Amino acid sequence: MVDFTLTPRQRELRQIAHDFAMDVVLPAAEKADRVPEPDKAFDWSIIREGSKRGLRTLTVPKEYGGEGANVLTCALVGEQICYGDLGIGVAFDQTWKIMTTIARLTNEEQRRRWLPRIVEDPEFLLGIAMTEPMHGSDNILPYEKTMETRAERRGDTWILNGTKRYISNGGLAKLYYVVARTAFDRPLAESLTGFLVPADAPGFTVTEVWDKLGQRAVQNGTLRFENVEVPDADRVLEVGKAAPTMAAFLLRHGSNIQAGASVLGVAQRAYDLAHQYAFERVQGGEPLIAHELQRVRLARMAMKIQAARSYLWFGACDCGQETFDPKHASLAKIFAAETAVEVCRDALELWGAAGYMRKNPIEKLMRDALSFLHSDGTNDVLALKAAAFIADEKPDPSARRYCGRTFEAAMGR
Ligand SMILES: Cc1cc2nc3c(=O)[nH]c(=O)nc-3n(C[C@H](O)[C@H](O)[C@H](O)COP(=O)(O)OP(=O)(O)OC[C@H]3O[C@@H](n4cnc5c(N)ncnc54)[C@H](O)[C@@H]3O)c2cc1C
Repeated sequence: MVDFTLTPRQRELRQIAHDFAMDVVLPAAEKADRVPEPDKAFDWSIIREGSKRGLRTLTVPKEYGGEGANVLTCALVGEQICYGDLGIGVAFDQTWKIMTTIARLTNEEQRRRWLPRIVEDPEFLLGIAMTEPMHGSDNILPYEKTMETRAERRGDTWILNGTKRYISNGGLAKLYYVVARTAFDRPLAESLTGFLVPADAPGFTVTEVWDKLGQRAVQNGTLRFENVEVPDADRVLEVGKAAPTMAAFLLRHGSNIQAGASVLGVAQRAYDLAHQYAFERVQGGEPLIAHELQRVRLARMAMKIQAARSYLWFGACDCGQETFDPKHASLAKIFAAETAVEVCRDALELWGAAGYMRKNPIEKLMRDALSFLHSDGTNDVLALKAAAFIADEKPDPSARRYCGRTFEAAMGR
């Protein structure tokens, strides 16, 4: 059973995020979207303001001065910020996700060394580097032949070499959680290791900031590691133990759920603008809202958004349960990402040609929404992951919920 009653603090944080989105993020969104150079669009003043309002450090544990927020709180807050702009929301959400990883996986000494720096610097963002030019989904399913970035041990230091790409907050983050190969002669489950790599490490460069269709307010970078020296003190967990952390990052620690909540903010914005337009635009002598077909369109948009939100909230609450069912994290993200694209398309239809015009707000939402068909794992690959969990759930024919005739029917009798 899951109880969706929000705590007073969750309601308060959602309101803080809503005000931040309306006062600060939304007014700046169009300008950032229009900047032609992808490395010139990011507005640090927004991050500083978010820091002032306590939003950047949402998942920093309370004992280190943060909010200690769980996945549901991140989903609530993230949806609100992304209502203002998806790119800015992603800059915050990535930081929350990686902070959760740091808080859960690092040792006491690492937390004491890194967390105060992150909390005190209002421009401290985080990034996670898994995807490589030749291995994208390979890392998510994952296959044995994946991950070419390597780390070799020399005494108390690891030498990191390789390339990661499409990394959110790439070129903005001050610290990256990087997963690299530390063995090529063992099964994958024993050969990946996580490291904390600061952006000012010698040999680390951002070789490209990607020019994207949407999410233009945030950067996605290609990260190059050339003989980057990482002290063993910044290795996360034991050597060879990072593979399960990648799965946990996406599922139990909330990345998929938070991704779904982010893109849902875009869907909600598209719905609100479609709803408003339906009252303003007159055709056939009446506002569009008076035409049944458009009313039904809006009703179906509202239905999908609320269904996606309910599924995400369920998945977020499930992350904290002992009985956690991992398939729901992926499936809720897929459903939210598809919903956002469908709702934005409906908003485009309802706005007519005006929706297609760049001086109006709808086309940006469509471009933004498309990003989460791929970001945080492609929907297809996440569906494959969920399907694998389902294939592992063997039905017990003696359980009352199953039908005694199933075996007979399957035998053709
Ligand atoms: C906006 C954005 C932000 C991102 N941020 C980050 C980040 O912060 N950190 C990070 O590490 N990565 C990030 N990524 C990368 C993202 O995780 C990858 O793009 C994603 O995992 C897919 O990898 P790929 O793009 O190489 O596609 P590929 O893996 O090459 O996939 C191509 C197509 O093949 C399909 N496919 C792949 N494998 C199979 C299979 N076994 N069976 C059937 N079909 C298959 C896919 O679904 C897809 O349709 C980001 C991507 C985007 C778009």
